[in-house]
Parts: sequence; structure tokens; C-alpha cells
Amino acid sequence: MTVLLGCIADDFTGGTDLAGMLVKAGMRTVQMIGVPQEPIGDDIDAVVIALKSRTNPVEDAIAESLAALRWLQAAGCKQFYFKYCSTFDSTPRGNIGPVGEALMAALHSDFTIACPAFPVNGRTIYKGHLFVGDILLSDSGMRNHPLTPMTDANLVKVLQAQIKGKAGLVDSSVVRQGPEAIKARFAQLKSEGCNFAVPDALTNDDLMAIGAACADMPLVTAGSGIALGLPQNFVKAGLLAEAQVADTLPKTGGLRAVIAGSCSIATQGQVAAMREKHPAFNIDPFELAHGKDVVAEALAWAKDKIQAEPVLFYATATPEAVKAVQAQLGTEKAGTLVEDALAAIAQGLIALGVGQLIVAGGETSGAVVKALGVSGLRIGPEIDPGVPWTTAITKNTAEKPIALALKSGNFGTPDFFLKAWSKLA
Ligand code: ADP
Repeated sequence: MTVLLGCIADDFTGGTDLAGMLVKAGMRTVQMIGVPQEPIGDDIDAVVIALKSRTNPVEDAIAESLAALRWLQAAGCKQFYFKYCSTFDSTPRGNIGPVGEALMAALHSDFTIACPAFPVNGRTIYKGHLFVGDILLSDSGMRNHPLTPMTDANLVKVLQAQIKGKAGLVDSSVVRQGPEAIKARFAQLKSEGCNFAVPDALTNDDLMAIGAACADMPLVTAGSGIALGLPQNFVKAGLLAEAQVADTLPKTGGLRAVIAGSCSIATQGQVAAMREKHPAFNIDPFELAHGKDVVAEALAWAKDKIQAEPVLFYATATPEAVKAVQAQLGTEKAGTLVEDALAAIAQGLIALGVGQLIVAGGETSGAVVKALGVSGLRIGPEIDPGVPWTTAITKNTAEKPIALALKSGNFGTPDFFLKAWSKLA
């Protein structure tokens, strides 16, 4: 196995975002939840190791990132990518700068970029200042973020406060001249003692040019935008097929089910649409709290029905109903009760022969993934923007692959649970 691009993401959804971008750009990609313990399969061009290091103490974030790097180095990666949020979520202590410097040191590199720009999502950088839509980062909601408040939009300054080295700007007038001009500016910054370049980026063309200029950089640090510009380098070097279809998954087959633990508005609509067409089982938190074996009941109910058509298990309820549950059981207890029950149902469904499973809800997905022993996801075709089908990487991947779609609450059109199956081969 030779992986070309090894990525370390500082949180899970950020990793998913990057993995999706790489697949679109023609790289066959897996996203691992933490440093991989199992074989990840063949024919893979990029690996994204998703950590949970964004707000960890700096020393822990560095140690985890270095462990991920070691694994990626052993996998033969040609280039490394430290992925953080497009709003540069960090504190004056880090972790973006210190992790970037630690990774550079481990790779014997002395220069990289810091580029959270993602123009299609409204994240642009001009004169080193990060804009969120039409306003400066420091005037956006990020100003009041509970963990990583961003009160300065000047990325050169923000980064400078985090690093031992020196940060310098690549002005948009240079970026617009293309890769050679950007590389010349990199060389100039390096000669001035900089180890980080902050390039301006206002458009996807800018990201492509910056990506091309980074072809020989051992490490790139960025949001997911730069993922647009890196695969072309591997194509040019003859390491990656041009215009490769990267989202093909192994055939899974098996029975079909949906588990919904999200109460978000989009999920409510999706649950209503599925209930009209297919059998649906409601999970009642009060019954769980009273100790009723709802899991066994749900699985027995589904056993025959699921042979013929997809079935739905949902805890999804209106805001009023959720409030009533939370008032009686406590918010955390209600959440855990429901998550545990849905995770146990997922396990039971796999035992029943389910091979294609949709899970709605971020926390719910986390609980299901844990219960099923999923250590990674091979990214497949998108169902709706931001929600791909994946194949779960588990101890049993070889004998029994499972197709998983993990949908966070507010994603997807109302017919998401109905149309998703047709996107699988
Ligand atoms: P989303 O992605 O929409 O935020 P999550 O799964 O992350 O969805 O969060 C939903 C939370 O609400 C979970 O902890 C889930 O267990 C809990 N929950 C689901 N249904 C109910 C309910 N009927 N009453 C109380 N809590 C619920």
C-alpha cells in the first residue's frame, strides 16, 4: 500500500469535510477515527486521521499529532497535511502553531503555509485578514466561541503569538500571479527567517495556485480548501491517475435500516417522510427510563419486516416533547439512555443481517460507531452535500462490509432516508 497524502485533522467533522474534498478531487480516501489499529485496505490515495485535539492542552495535541504522523509516515505518505478549521479555531497558546511546528520538526522541514481559506464557504483571506462572509473573523460569531474565541482577524498576528518561529504574508497581488510567484515569495520569506507563510486567498483559483506552489512542501497546514489544489500535484508527478473516480465502494448488499437520534428540524422532516413509506419504531425515553427492554422489543418487531424493506428506528421528537423528557430525566441522562439504546439496536441490526445503515445525529453517530467497533470510514458517493455513503472499517471488514451513512442533524433533503439507497452500487 502506498498512500500519497497523509492528513491529520484536529476534529472529527473537520476530518470528514477534508476527506470529502479529497474524494471529489480524485483521491480515494479513508478517514480514521484516531490512529489506525487495523489494516485500512488497499487502493487508497489519502488517509485522514481524525483526532480530537483542537482544544486539548498543547502538549497533548502535539503528542497525538506526532503519533498520527508516525503512522502516516510508516504508510509511505509523500506529503502531510495538518487540517484545522476554516475559522482558524485556536487560542493564543495554540494549538495550530505549536502542532504545525512540531510536525515540521519531525519531518525535518523548516517552512510551511497556514491557510484556512475556503472561498465557496465564505472564508477568504485578504492582506492576511480572515473574512467570514462579508465580515472580519473578529466581528463574526467566532468572537464569542465558548472554547476558541477569535478576537483578531489578522492571521499573521494570531499565528505569530502561537509559534516560536516567524510568520509572514503572501499578499494576494503575488498569489494572483500564480505558483512561480508564490514560490519566489516563499523563498524570500524563508530568507527573512520565516517558517510560516500566510497566503491570501479569495477564490478557488487562488487555492489552486497556492496548492501548486506547495507541491514540494513536506507539510501543509490548512483548512480543507487547499485540498482542492494538492491532488493536481500528484497527477503531475505521475503518482495519481487523472480525473480518477474516487468514490467507488465495495458492494455491500444486506438489509437496510435507519436509526434516527437527532431531533433537528431536517431530521424531523426526514423521519416524517420515511414513516409514510416504511415501517417505523418509536423509541420512548420514558420506557427506557422505566427499565423496559425496548431494544429487544424493537429488534423482534423488525425481524420479519426488514426482510422486505428498509425500517426506521427513531427517538426523534418535537422540541416540546424533548423538553418534557429532559425536565423529568435530566438532559444528559435522557441523551445517554437514548444513545445507548440506539447503539444496541445498531448492533442487533448488524446481527440480523443489515448491511446498509443510515444514522442521523452527530452524538448518535458517535455512539453507533463506537458500539459497532468502527475504526474508520472509506468515503464513497455523496447522498447530499456533506453526507457521503462510507464503508465501515472494522475487524470484520473483509468478511462483512457495512455501508454506513452518518448524517449530522441539519443535513439532507426531506427525502434523504428514501433516496439514499439508490446511491449505493
Ligand atoms: P444532532 O446532530 O441533530 O444534534 P445528536 O445525535 O447529536 O443529533 O443529538 C441528539 C441528542 O438528543 C442525543 O443525545 C439523543 O440521544 C437525544 N435525544 C434523541 N431523542 C430524544 C428524545 N426524544 N428526548 C430526549 N433526548 C433525545
